[in-house]
Amino acid sequence: MYLLLICEEINVILNKYLKYNIENMKKTIIPKKMKRMYFSEDFKIEKWQDIKKELEKLLNCPINSRNELMSFWKKVSELYKIKEDTCAWLYIRMTQYSNNLEHKKAFNFFIKNIEARSQPYIFELNKKFYSSPFRNKIGKKYGHLNKIISNQIELYREENIPLILKEQELAVKFREIVGNMTVFFKGEEKTIQQMLVYYENKDAKIREEAWRLVFNRYIKEKNKLNKLFDDLKNIRVQIAKNAGFKNYRDYMHQAKGRFSYSPSDLTNLHKVVKKVIIPFIEELDNERKNKLNLEILKPWDFKVNFEGEIPKAFETVEEMLEKSTKILFNVDNDFGEEFKKMQDNGFIDAENRKNKAPGGYCYPLLETGSSFIFMHSVGLINDVETIIHEAGHAMHNMMSKEETIIEYIFKPSEVAELASMSMELITLDYWREFYPDDILKIVKSNELKEKIKFIPWGIVVDAFQHWIYLNPKRTTKERDDYFGKLLDQYKIGGNWTGLEREKAIRWMMQLHIFQIPFYYIEYVLAQLGAIAIYRNYKKNPQKTTKQYKRFLKIAYTKPVDEVYRTAGIKFDFTEKYITELVNFIKAELKK
Ligand SMILES: [Zn+2]
Repeated sequence: MYLLLICEEINVILNKYLKYNIENMKKTIIPKKMKRMYFSEDFKIEKWQDIKKELEKLLNCPINSRNELMSFWKKVSELYKIKEDTCAWLYIRMTQYSNNLEHKKAFNFFIKNIEARSQPYIFELNKKFYSSPFRNKIGKKYGHLNKIISNQIELYREENIPLILKEQELAVKFREIVGNMTVFFKGEEKTIQQMLVYYENKDAKIREEAWRLVFNRYIKEKNKLNKLFDDLKNIRVQIAKNAGFKNYRDYMHQAKGRFSYSPSDLTNLHKVVKKVIIPFIEELDNERKNKLNLEILKPWDFKVNFEGEIPKAFETVEEMLEKSTKILFNVDNDFGEEFKKMQDNGFIDAENRKNKAPGGYCYPLLETGSSFIFMHSVGLINDVETIIHEAGHAMHNMMSKEETIIEYIFKPSEVAELASMSMELITLDYWREFYPDDILKIVKSNELKEKIKFIPWGIVVDAFQHWIYLNPKRTTKERDDYFGKLLDQYKIGGNWTGLEREKAIRWMMQLHIFQIPFYYIEYVLAQLGAIAIYRNYKKNPQKTTKQYKRFLKIAYTKPVDEVYRTAGIKFDFTEKYITELVNFIKAELKK
């Protein structure tokens, strides 16, 4: 799924380039691949005809038994893998050398001429699988696959296609409005991203000034963004209606394949978080208030670190990689080995240099059975978090590399982020590679607090969308008011008195609400899961590592709740369970 997200981002930026021969790119592609089962080793997807021919063959091949159905699907999966890897390398090269127009052209050529044109065929292949009389005879092992494909086919409505296209167009508009926003700060033009660093400033006046500038910039676009959101909402309501759903929330829950939990499980989780986590957040806020020596906390007071300076974690990229390798070896030998191999293969580009795209990612290299990590490291704690987080994804890809079914390889975020977020937590003690003991204590405490503090925000973003799509006729004013109420209930931003205008537009800063509706709660579920894995790890590291590896290995071959159980944890939204997890974090913080 995250592959698609990455590709979608870039596709929009590069719409203008059309024709380019990928042939020119070959010299930069040197991965060692695993053996293919169905396609010859020299088969490549360089132009539309290459893949079209194969897609057509697959569409026309006869299926006369259960076994033939499964080998048909494994062949489809192998073709997807080849396509995904071709796309992966084009994307990687483009982000590594963002000033090189040829890379951009090659990537865009692929998206326009191969990826987009494959989509209707892929749907037809899914349909072919779905309508096969052998589908219900494929056995338990593939029951989950059956469920995933059936869900897609059963939700499909011809009349929703133009609506979905329109929705995507409007999502691009959102990016156009907010993507180019700048403000003038101390005489210099700065992007919103660049302003965020001032939220951490020790001087409250600087924090406030930066914060107000950013919010005022959004307020200027308020009417435009409200109108845009209403248009998006109306389209979404119609999409749900066409698919036979009472509301868009329930439709999206189904469309996202959330088979293991219901929307009402989530509303229950909203309540539990309010009851169990918010009192703890209030304690943390009080501590912050006292240590910052403030009467009240304003929204710009939450990013500044009051525990003292965290020194640089490392000087060079080599040092960071060497220390991260040791950390991973501490968890498990296979992890250390894979991470070393990635470095030997040139699969980690962590250097901060000019002409490299911003951001960070871990891109699976399906045919190689490995991953590519991309980031900008400058020595900050953030970089340590990023490399360990992405290494968690990379270990997931490595452990599940033998999986042959594409639907099982692509993991939903509840599953994918459980791997990476858990890796951050279980390695915490080993971060002593980067920090002396006294600093590590502060780092650990900050990390644990950050993880807990994210949860209420995740809930607010989710609860807000539940309300919107269950009450689609409410006015923009009622919408703003409801969001404000959520901020107060979940203790986000402290005291907003005198900042009512700002409060009303806070939700507009969360791009998910506009662009990827209902995609957010997954992070809350994975974070809770990661805390549970960390708790197990503290009790029994050997056993927990074993379970963790087993969980990585099964990828998405099972529904989310079973995947969590394989990791040795519950998939549970009850007050009792969340209380246990919060108490564990409290006890860790006291240590
Ligand atoms: Zn991640």
